[in-house]
Amino acid sequence: MSLADIYSTDQPGLSFELFPPKTEAGEEALLKHVQRLLEFSPGYITCTYGAGGSTQNKTLDIIGRVHEMSGLPVATHLTCVGSTAEQLGEYLTEARKRGVDNVVALRGDPPKGEDSFTAVEGGFKYANELVEYIRRDFSDMGIAVAGYPEKHVEAPSLDVDLENLKRKVDAGADVVVTQLFYVNDDFFAFRDRCVALGINVPIVPGLLPVTNFAQIKRITSLCGAKLPGEFVSALEAAGDESDTQFQVGVDFATQQMAQLLEAGVPGVHLYVLNKSEAASGVLENLGWKAN
Ligand code: FAD
Repeated sequence: MSLADIYSTDQPGLSFELFPPKTEAGEEALLKHVQRLLEFSPGYITCTYGAGGSTQNKTLDIIGRVHEMSGLPVATHLTCVGSTAEQLGEYLTEARKRGVDNVVALRGDPPKGEDSFTAVEGGFKYANELVEYIRRDFSDMGIAVAGYPEKHVEAPSLDVDLENLKRKVDAGADVVVTQLFYVNDDFFAFRDRCVALGINVPIVPGLLPVTNFAQIKRITSLCGAKLPGEFVSALEAAGDESDTQFQVGVDFATQQMAQLLEAGVPGVHLYVLNKSEAASGVLENLGWKAN
């Protein structure tokens, strides 16, 4: 099933995002969590892609194994960081050999210690160029791209960022998956502006259920996502009690996802951070039905 098809059935499409674990033990633990997540009949599963050769091979190892065990469509994330077009092509050729038919096509962040992104000679400067390349040389692969309801950190304005998002869709992206956010009104405004610009592919909200206050403060400080005041107060009130923080996070994510589904989103992408408990909690709360 293609990425676009996953979002055109009666049930909203569900996807989970994993990252490559650092150790063998982490990998085995992850596969157990994936087994649990499969009970919710996701449409596809993705795995992130980091800078540096060894993690990149790990991405394909993990997502290839997930494909083998689940038979589901899977997607590898792919960034332009440090790679020429030829190297990206070699990676995609290997991905396809392993049954990975979809790509989350990204520019990537500047490497640590650098303020701005510089393309390597023979590489790409922006994600729209990567999308164009994949569409031309790997035309059968499904392509998702990143959208930012609260604007990408480097963009001078949301308007400019949306014009750039449109370039990615015009270059051939099938789906937009968003950065995590906690204020649904920001997503709805973003979606309306996308539609007004003629972005007419599924726009899928990306949600990260909070399980730990310190961790989410770190993550949101990096990506610029706002945490609503009431949510912060509830997390603060939980103090050092990790179980209470987890429950507050799952309850918030349940309400957030319920409102998005109510508003007719085509699907939801869950950043599960390689664990199944929070996502399972949210989906069970929502009475999410397995197909
Ligand atoms: P782009 O779309 O290229 O945008 C980058 C900036 O340039 C934006 O400010 C945009 O407005 C501007 N811009 C875009 N095109 C043009 C143009 N043609 N001309 C002028 N300006 C332009 N990072 C990883 O390293 N690995 C991952 O696996 C990963 N997965 C992610 C998954 C999702 C769903 C999301 C939302 C993000 C992910 N990221 C990942 C983070 C991502 O790499 C960063 O946010 C990165 O800074 C931007 O990538 P992009 O593809 O959005 O870039």
